[in-house]
Amino acid sequence: MNVVFLGPPGAGKGTQARRLAERYRVPQIATGDILREAMASGSELGRRAKAYYDRGELVPDEVMLEVVANRLRQPDASGGFVLDGFPRTVPQAEGLDRVLAQLGRRLEVAVLFQAPREVLVRRLSGRWVCRARGHVYHEVYRPPQVPGRCDHDGSELVQREDDRPETVERRLEVYERQTAPLVEYYRKRGLLHSVDASGDEEEVSRQVEAVLRQAGVV
Ligand code: ADP
Ligand code: AMP
Repeated sequence: MNVVFLGPPGAGKGTQARRLAERYRVPQIATGDILREAMASGSELGRRAKAYYDRGELVPDEVMLEVVANRLRQPDASGGFVLDGFPRTVPQAEGLDRVLAQLGRRLEVAVLFQAPREVLVRRLSGRWVCRARGHVYHEVYRPPQVPGRCDHDGSELVQREDDRPETVERRLEVYERQTAPLVEYYRKRGLLHSVDASGDEEEVSRQVEAVLRQAGVV
């Protein structure tokens, strides 16, 4: 399963990527999560990414490509992956194609998550994530069993710095300008499949499964 999830922030990519990864036992490779871990640990990558991240802008392509190329070479990704939040620009998509070719593999499907802007804003403004491992909740749509605590590991739930309204605006603009062109990129290659991401989590999951079956991936 060599799959990419594409779509604006808040569309539910991470939520569905985690489900799929658990079900099919492939790694979820979420570049946003990798950057948040790097920033929390104060690594060189985290220091390079922070200013871009805090402004809601994209970290430079060459930095992200190196991160993903290294991750795809790890043994646990040899049987497939769900890439979530990467690629986000045409040069990243081209770089991904090159890395996969070097590994003797290729992308099988790009799933585009589509939802109206007001849905995205509502989801981002109510998102809470667990400090320990990034499990994702929503104060209305997916509340934790114990308020403020992760169901999986009991760690504290926090709101992401970049989910504040000003940064959300910027991220949505950046998506339109830099990431939306990937829709054409994958359409031209016959890899694009869209799902209506505005339904509830189960509904979207059914559509994702249907798309993967249709594409012959599962
Ligand atoms: P993305 O990875 O695309 O930015 P997330 O998966 O983090 O999006 O989801 C954003 C927020 O919306 C989270 O709070 C999540 O719990 C919630 N969410 C995800 N999918 C749905 C859905 N289908 N319906 C309602 N809320 C959802
Ligand atoms: P996400 O968790 O996918 O919403 O990403 C959060 C932030 O991390 C983005 O706003 C960017 O600053 C950065 N980021 C994540 N993935 C990428 C990527 N593929 N290219 C550039 N920046 C990224």
